Amino acid sequence: LLQLSAPLFLLGMMYREVKQALTNMERLFGLLDERQDVQDAPDARPLVATRPSVRFEAVRFGYDPRRQILHDVDFEIPGGGTVAVVGHSGSGKSTLARLLYRFYDVDGGRILIDGQDIRQLTQASLRGAIAIVPQDTVLFNDSIFYNIRYGRPEASREEVEAAARAAHIHKFIQSLPDGYDTQVGERGLKLSGGEKQRVAIARAILKNPSILIFDEATSALDSQSERAIQAELERIQRGRTTLVIAHRLSTVMNADQVLVMDGGRVVERGSHGDLLARDGRYAQMWQLQQREAEREG
Ligand code: ATP
Repeated sequence: LLQLSAPLFLLGMMYREVKQALTNMERLFGLLDERQDVQDAPDARPLVATRPSVRFEAVRFGYDPRRQILHDVDFEIPGGGTVAVVGHSGSGKSTLARLLYRFYDVDGGRILIDGQDIRQLTQASLRGAIAIVPQDTVLFNDSIFYNIRYGRPEASREEVEAAARAAHIHKFIQSLPDGYDTQVGERGLKLSGGEKQRVAIARAILKNPSILIFDEATSALDSQSERAIQAELERIQRGRTTLVIAHRLSTVMNADQVLVMDGGRVVERGSHGDLLARDGRYAQMWQLQQREAEREG
C-alpha cells in the first residue's frame, strides 16, 4: 500500500497542476463556462510552419446553436503580416481569437494555417505555435520566475531572464527583495496592469511563437508605459503572423489590414488610410474617438 500511495499522491498533485494550468488558460479567454471539448482528429498532423499564413473562410460560429455570433467571416493574414480587428463591444473580436486557438470548432467554413485546416492539426502543435497576450493577464499563485517560464516550461534560467529583459521587466524584478522568487498572484505581490502585461509579453517572447494573438488593454495605462509596451510588442511582432484586437491608433496605423466587425460580420476592411477615405463605419468610429479624446483633454 505504501508503495502504491506515493505515485498516486504524485499523480494527484500533477492532476491538480494540470487542471490549474487549464483553468488559467481558460480564464485568459474568459471561458469558465461549459464548452464542447475539441479533440484531435485520428489522423491529425503536427503544424510545421515558420511564417504561416492564417485564413478564415466563411467562418460561422455560435457558442449556443440558437444564437449565431459569427456570420461568414472571411479574411487572411499573410505570413508574417498583421491584421488588426476593431469594432464595438460584443461584435465578435475575441471570438475570432478563441477560434484560431481552437477553444471551439467552427460551425461552418474553415480556418486554415498555411493552407491546412486547423481541425487536421494536433492541438499540441497548434497551441505551441500560438502565443496570446491577453488584455488582463492571469498570474498563478507562484513565483514570478514560474509565471514567466510558463511560456515554455523547459526554458532555462538564462532564457527566462533574457525574455524578462526583452520585455523590460528584468530590472523591476531584480529590484524586489526576493527577485525572481517573489510570490505573485492573488496571494502574493499584486502587479500593476502594465507589469502584468510585461509578464505576458515575456511569456510570449519565451514561447517564440510563429503566430501572435494580442488583445490590447482598453484600460488606460499611463502613456509612458503604454509607449514602452507598444514598442516591445512591435519588436516581437516582426516576422510573426499577428492578429491584434486593437484599441490604439498606433496599432491600426501599423497594421497591414484593419477589419471592422459589427454584429459578427466584417463590415469594412482596408488600411487605416483607405478606411478613413471611405468615410463609412470606421471613419465614424474614428471621429467619435477623436471627439472623446478632445473632451477628455
Ligand atoms: P469586447 O470588445 O467587449 O471584448 P468582442 O467584440 O471581443 O467584445 P466577443 O467576446 O467575441 O466580443 O463576443 C461576441 C458575442 O458572443 C457577445 O454577444 C457575447 O455575449 C457572446 N459570447 C462571448 N463569449 C461567450 C460564451 N463563452 N458563451 C456564450 N456567449 C458568449
